Amino acid sequence: MTDRPSRPVRVRFAPSPTGSLHIGGLRTALFNYLYARRHGGSFILRIEDTDQKRFDPTALQTLMEALQWAGLQWDEGPEVGGPYGPYVQSERLAIYQQWANWLVENGKAYKDFNANTRPADVPFDKEARKQAYREKAARNEPLTITPPSCRDLTPDEVAEREARGESYVIRFKMPQSGETIVQDYIRGEVRFDNQTQQDAILLKEDGYPTYHLAHVVDDYLMQISHVMRANEWLPSYPLHAQLWWAFGWEMPIYVHLPVMLNPNGKGKISKRNPPKDKFGNIIPVMVHDYIAAGYLPEAMVNFLTNIGWNFGDEREKFTQAEAIERFDLDRINEANSAYPVEKLQWLNGEYIREMEPLELAKRLKPVLEKAGYEVNADFLLKVVPLVQTRIKSLNDIIPMAGFLFREEFIPATADLLIQKKMDAAQTAMALQRSLEILSALKDFSTAALQEAIQPLTESLGLTNSQLFGVLRVAVTGQTISTPTFETMDILGQAVSIARLKQALETLRSSLEKPIPA
Ligand code: GLU
Repeated sequence: MTDRPSRPVRVRFAPSPTGSLHIGGLRTALFNYLYARRHGGSFILRIEDTDQKRFDPTALQTLMEALQWAGLQWDEGPEVGGPYGPYVQSERLAIYQQWANWLVENGKAYKDFNANTRPADVPFDKEARKQAYREKAARNEPLTITPPSCRDLTPDEVAEREARGESYVIRFKMPQSGETIVQDYIRGEVRFDNQTQQDAILLKEDGYPTYHLAHVVDDYLMQISHVMRANEWLPSYPLHAQLWWAFGWEMPIYVHLPVMLNPNGKGKISKRNPPKDKFGNIIPVMVHDYIAAGYLPEAMVNFLTNIGWNFGDEREKFTQAEAIERFDLDRINEANSAYPVEKLQWLNGEYIREMEPLELAKRLKPVLEKAGYEVNADFLLKVVPLVQTRIKSLNDIIPMAGFLFREEFIPATADLLIQKKMDAAQTAMALQRSLEILSALKDFSTAALQEAIQPLTESLGLTNSQLFGVLRVAVTGQTISTPTFETMDILGQAVSIARLKQALETLRSSLEKPIPA
């Protein structure tokens, strides 16, 4: 097979909206998107909601938000429409029913009236059932009697049962011997023994299709050229191939993508059993958790592109445009791979560092506002250079610089003010001397502050980190913050001096406290 498509590229992302979008789902969407863009094709969003009794508009909304956040705008699908709609499967029921019936009429599928029938020997009552099972097991008899298959009912028998009002499902007639040989773009030929396959349900009693029928019908009608989906679907691929053949339709190319495993390499990452990083922190699995945690879409997209595909050289950081230029199916791995979350953290920091300050301010504003701070855009722009090289996620601005956006100041305790290998008296002295110098300063800029305070370290016999640490805690109230002199510069002389005085008071009163007996 070749990566160069022989027909117009039309690919789709076909999620079942059951809540937020799983990170693996976003990766599948991304690969489809990159491939479509690479070949000037169409990226289609199709909502596979046939498993749900009721359509949940909030789940769909969340899902579309996640795709849009990542910049994966679909060319056809909900909200944007397109020539092959509707793009929500629950709005296409009549189509699936029509094609399921076509298969029945052509002898490729059958009505199964026994799908929900309790075998005659299984009592309804739970206790009675258990007892019956125990007795049968003691007699070494099979535990249930499988209802006879309806596969070979005559047309008259079918008509008779339908006339009696018996409900039914439609099942596919899978070949009962031989092999199904299918092509997967990544694996090449894959062979399945037909005896291991069942007659799968295509249409349920309530008239809803199963995934098997719905996706084949839709991929045909929507002229999908490549089905790129998680490799968890590989075991049902022979059924899907047989369905395409039964319909007599030209099959799209199937590409089964590797899935992401827990960082320890075991098991697929899932919400039910959340993965942990090497420090034992829970790693988010849903896209919304990453948005809430302050990750940038650029970093996320770059990161996900690297899972199961590679750029082709050693580069791990590249733009989406660069990925589009190179994206091919040949470099998709067959094997599942562990989820390297630390790469995402690294990339996120890289993208933050190289962002235009104005752009970074734009992204930080809603984060601060969400945390309850009132944000003045000009002031934020002054803070940006102080955090840009220090934060790894947008949310890091809150613990680091949130205090700058708060009216109220929470002064530090004496314990926090006293730096390593210092005592209260020394700390008070450092504050006292700093205050004398800073009160007299005419120029309160970062450079002037640095120049004025630096000589103090020597005369007090302190290290930079001791002296600057005391000042930092005094003016910010916290041990981790934006850098000391820059912060004082932003706060201004009056506020800085007031806070230093307050810290000195705190230390003095701690010194005056009687020593506990
Ligand atoms: N609805 C299926 C899923 O969410 C789609 C698989 C496919 O892409 O065909 O897994």
